[in-house]
Amino acid sequence: MDFLTKELEQLKTNNLYRLPQTLELRQGTSVFINGQKYLLLCSNDYLGLSNHPRLIEASLAAVHEYGTGSGASRLICGSLKIHAQLEQGVALFKQTEDAAIFSSGYMANLGVISSLMNKGDLIIMDRLNHASLIDGARLSGAHLRVYPHQNMTVLKRILSSSSIYRRRMIVTEGIFSMDGDIASLPEIVDMAKYYQSMVMVDDAHATGVLGKNGHGSAEYFGLEGEIDIQMGTFSKAIGGFGGFVAGKKVLIDYLKNTARSFIYSTSMPPSDAAVSLKGLEVVQTEPEWRKMLWNNADYLRQKIHQTGLNTLNSTTQIIPVLTGSNEDTLQMAGYLYKHGIFAPGIRPPSVPKGKGRIRLSVMAAHTREELDYVVSILADITGRYT
Ligand code: PMP
Repeated sequence: MDFLTKELEQLKTNNLYRLPQTLELRQGTSVFINGQKYLLLCSNDYLGLSNHPRLIEASLAAVHEYGTGSGASRLICGSLKIHAQLEQGVALFKQTEDAAIFSSGYMANLGVISSLMNKGDLIIMDRLNHASLIDGARLSGAHLRVYPHQNMTVLKRILSSSSIYRRRMIVTEGIFSMDGDIASLPEIVDMAKYYQSMVMVDDAHATGVLGKNGHGSAEYFGLEGEIDIQMGTFSKAIGGFGGFVAGKKVLIDYLKNTARSFIYSTSMPPSDAAVSLKGLEVVQTEPEWRKMLWNNADYLRQKIHQTGLNTLNSTTQIIPVLTGSNEDTLQMAGYLYKHGIFAPGIRPPSVPKGKGRIRLSVMAAHTREELDYVVSILADITGRYT
């Protein structure tokens, strides 16, 4: 196993080595690490629902009703009433005919893409798509072509020369997880119609966040019913855990019969399903969290702009602060950490080489004082990165 040691050393030399940080306690926007308190700025629990009393209550009630584990995969005997209720809840939320739930968003992406696409098909992806989408494409055996981030001209060029393929699928994120910009969905949908391609949108970061009712990017753009495959996760704004796919009945029926990550994995624990169902309800009945989130995100983004730091094209709750090299990224993250702010540096392969960044994630519960403090610390070392 000497080669492992050598490769780990190489990662350390290149400032690419990573270690998970253990959080001893989380209280709202604060976390405790080694007994010290830090301000949390990297959580995807955007609305703070993972600590919402109604979600906690739903979790406990489900444990009492069903026990802790589901005991089997969905097609054996692991399909509980709460799973069916969650699937109906997702379909209602996403305004689609049906939905399927998966054990995680990662599993959903792997399962959906590899089940729908095959050798002889073409998958066209944005350069910044999440690793789970890329892995799904690789697993499918289909040909994969990538267009530069949000470059609709190149997407059109690829589509216009793709008639030899049996099936085509354009895959994009709704809100991009590392840049915080919103996909140009109306253009993508138009092109897809013209070139008879399917469209899949990964709304992991948009679900609960975008649109009047938090339904996601389709609602935001008024494109309900126009997107073939809407994928999402319960693990971010919804405050729970697990993934889903929403779309036409025939799509969901097909996925339940062919998506290997759906078929060959134990179904989600019933308490997770109950939490996610409650999370979807809270997103719709308590819009105040979403309003607070957007107010905070706009406030922080504007304040950071004033310091001259580069936040790329972010317009959402994900605000990248570009730092560039791995070394500079680690230094910035270290400086923030030293001043009580927990927002790790993001380096390749999560982002392209030379595009290292601090990815700030705003939460509804951040106070103006907390956000002002973050800006003041960023401003201390602005000179290095502007
Ligand atoms: N898609 C995107 C865009 C994501 O950011 C993530 C999670 N980081 C996933 C999919 C995977 O979702 P999950 O965490 O539920 O596996």
